[in-house]
Amino acid sequence: MNTTVQSLQRRLIALGFPLPEFGADGDPGTETLAAIGKALDELEGRRGPTGDGPPVSLPPSPKPSASLVPAEWMPAAKMERIICHWTAGTHQASEFDRSHYHMLIEADGKLVRGIPSIELNEAPAKKGYAAHTLNCNSGSIGVSLCCMGGSNEAPFDPGKYPMTREQWDALTGVVADLCRRYSIPVKDTTVLSHAEVQNNLGMQQRNKWDFTRLAFDPSVKGAKACGDKLRAEAKAKL
Ligand SMILES: [Zn+2]
Repeated sequence: MNTTVQSLQRRLIALGFPLPEFGADGDPGTETLAAIGKALDELEGRRGPTGDGPPVSLPPSPKPSASLVPAEWMPAAKMERIICHWTAGTHQASEFDRSHYHMLIEADGKLVRGIPSIELNEAPAKKGYAAHTLNCNSGSIGVSLCCMGGSNEAPFDPGKYPMTREQWDALTGVVADLCRRYSIPVKDTTVLSHAEVQNNLGMQQRNKWDFTRLAFDPSVKGAKACGDKLRAEAKAKL
């Protein structure tokens, strides 16, 4: 008689694993083995496939970061993509800037609402829509960073109003909020910068380089590198 097996069987039964052939002989029958396997599966599932140490309950899942974009700025609409820009203006949002985008982000990360409402850009675009991307405004939300007035692409000179890290960090949070609200997947055809529109969507633009350089991080160069960084950071905030 194997008391170890018997006590194991009793513990399994106590834990709710039925052992219909549980007998007094102490033979670890197939039911017992199956129950042990199931119990192990559950324990592993609880602590993750690579977990070690005693099984513990999972830490509370991280709370989704608080929404940066007020709910009333995100009316019900079917929107397909988010196109990110800079204004080529100053660090503050002017009336002119506000007329072209749904929302803007100033140098300190402050969010400013544009004049057109997002729903005006739902396809087909309605009168007063935000005209932010040539031939690509229907279904497109336009978000713009207030910066880069007087800048030059090559040789790179960010001018008097360089893009700030605060703006960028706010942008990735805003993009995450918009993706959640409008069920937009984070792909290079649905979350992209203006500089990627021509390549990724096949819509010709007029030498737009927002964003091919990030003034706060000169190591990131080119539309794809900037766009990939945008998508990775927005995704991490979803
Ligand atoms: Zn643009």
